[in-house]
Amino acid sequence: MKRGKRMEKTKKIWLNGEIVNWGEARVHVTSRTLNYGIGGVFEGLRYYNTDKGPAIFRLSEHIKRLFDSAKIEDLEIPFSYFEIRRACMDIARLNNLKQGYIRPLVFVDDEDKMGLGPIGDVKVSIATWGWDSYLGEESLAKGIKLKTSSYTKDNRTPERALMWKAKAVGNYSLLHRAKKQALKQGNDEALLLSEDGFVAECSAENIFFVKNGMLITPPQSAPILLGITRDSIIKIAQNKGYGVIEWDIVKKQLYAADEIFLTGTAAEVTPVREIDNRKVGDGKPGLITLELQKIYFDIVHGKMEKYKRWLTYI
Ligand code: PMP
Repeated sequence: MKRGKRMEKTKKIWLNGEIVNWGEARVHVTSRTLNYGIGGVFEGLRYYNTDKGPAIFRLSEHIKRLFDSAKIEDLEIPFSYFEIRRACMDIARLNNLKQGYIRPLVFVDDEDKMGLGPIGDVKVSIATWGWDSYLGEESLAKGIKLKTSSYTKDNRTPERALMWKAKAVGNYSLLHRAKKQALKQGNDEALLLSEDGFVAECSAENIFFVKNGMLITPPQSAPILLGITRDSIIKIAQNKGYGVIEWDIVKKQLYAADEIFLTGTAAEVTPVREIDNRKVGDGKPGLITLELQKIYFDIVHGKMEKYKRWLTYI
């Protein structure tokens, strides 16, 4: 079975306002985020090489979502939006890669408290590293095998549905189990349904399908993370003249789809060639998927004037 995706380490990490060496960014073993998976929220951003040097894709939206996640989880981030935004740019520049991934993490690092309940001593780290496309470079060209998981996303009450809107450390326990199950069964990624049986999202990506030239994706009310790549693809597709509908989807609609693809900062725009051992379309990445994928890569590499506002040069 494939293990976690190897990263190209960098030299420095931003830790609570200081720059420290990679190996020195440590937390105490009694951290309650480490012990219970509580008090943690994070983000994942990418920066890409462009003609004018590296640029972070949709930096403001990611930092906004980090603060939204913290609000949902009742965490007070001890830095302002602008400080975290600036720190992401600084640490990416300092580490001097042409392109890479940025991981701001909010966590609890308290050495003298244990147990559940109210949380203080919140810290923030920002690491950057080089990372190939999350599901593999080959997957971008050939597509992946997707499997519906037996794990479901609880949305039985509005409060539980809201949990999935936070990019919270604790949420990834279920997503990790689903991913591991899919890999064990010989697939590349897991698709999770909501408790009421509708399609939600994958372990680290949102999902779209194409039918008769129309794009369909689960609505914001579904138990999904509101992906920034999801939002980008919706806008790109609409600007290209495609209809996009945010609708509740059932699994059988995916079996009859012309094309399926996944979106995420790490996985970018990845075609799905098989779902639950059935071919999607003719088993090859679809034309609309590949068209949107190409535009996405052109945008992140600064080749499209129209979308320059999505880039922050570091
Ligand atoms: N859903 C989940 C559960 C995720 O972890 C991610 C990755 N952040 C996404 C969707 C896609 O979100 P984005 O496009 O903002 O990276």
